[in-house]
Amino acid sequence: MSRPVSAHQGRFVPRTVKVRAPGKVNVSLKVGPLRPDGYHSVASVYLAVSLYEEVAATSTPTPGITVSISPDSTLELDGVDIPLDERNLAYKAAAIMAEVSENPTGVHLEITKRVPVAGGMGGGSADAAATLLACDALWDSGLSREELAHLAAELGADVPFSLLGGTAVGLGVGDKLSPALAKAQMDWVLVCADYGLSTPEVFHTLDRLRDAEGVDAAEPSEVDAQILQALRGGDPEALSRVLVNDLQRASIELAPQLRDTIGLGESKGALAGFVSGSGPTVALLAHNQAEARRLAEELGHLGHTALAVHGPVPGARITSDTLH
Ligand code: ATP
Repeated sequence: MSRPVSAHQGRFVPRTVKVRAPGKVNVSLKVGPLRPDGYHSVASVYLAVSLYEEVAATSTPTPGITVSISPDSTLELDGVDIPLDERNLAYKAAAIMAEVSENPTGVHLEITKRVPVAGGMGGGSADAAATLLACDALWDSGLSREELAHLAAELGADVPFSLLGGTAVGLGVGDKLSPALAKAQMDWVLVCADYGLSTPEVFHTLDRLRDAEGVDAAEPSEVDAQILQALRGGDPEALSRVLVNDLQRASIELAPQLRDTIGLGESKGALAGFVSGSGPTVALLAHNQAEARRLAEELGHLGHTALAVHGPVPGARITSDTLH
């Protein structure tokens, strides 16, 4: 895509770069013990799904970063806590990009939210990934994908994956990514909750449960080869037998109704249901696309917010670049 210039006969001409970035589910999430630095090592298999955040970054003549939420957002956001100041992950991403760019302008970030907030699907991380890419284009920073990934890791463990997309194994805190060659599409139904769970609280709850049981969790160093094999072969039955999420019981401890949601999905025909990341979004694996649509509709009739999605899908991508 050619890059429009943002100065026209000395007059400031605003430019808008729009980027969309996917949310994720972790089809495998093994969690190690609490480390002295307060983090947990994980071994995770990320899958980017077709539920996208969008960030429109518009250059402004005055310096500074502002953030708003688009009225096109498909989430019910009344009473949902999304900070619009320097605590917003998109704001942080723009601030980092401004530091490494030679000629940053001011920028307004308009975020279209579609990924459930505090839902365990990395929605804020997708906003950060989208913003990195948008500001890179807006300010002609010319960073490589590797340099962007490095900045992404500074913003949060899930941000590099939203930039990369597809299917990937994540080690370290989830940020040491290796792309997996697993392009076969899988079909899912996401059942969204009308409340959020705090990721740190879910991890603390897992530590507490393990302490109470006297269990010493092993340091996870690799992911189960069968998971990658099932993903490569596009075999949902095989995948349903090996899905694992160590955080699930901690999420259920905090929100016991998740057990019912998983049970309901499985009783209505899902191959398997599990909590996505730290929850409370539940991911249901379907036999195929038609089944995913049918299941989403049926759960919708029962009063749930259920979305049929597929994955893997590509990571953050520029969708438009316009001068006004
Ligand atoms: P993850 O699975 O990556 O831990 P999540 O999907 O569970 O994250 P997010 O939606 O990313 O959770 O947001 C978690 C919290 O971060 C929110 O409750 C909100 O207060 C704060 N936050 C900061 N920036 C954003 C953003 N751009 N969008 C949503 N929440 C944000």
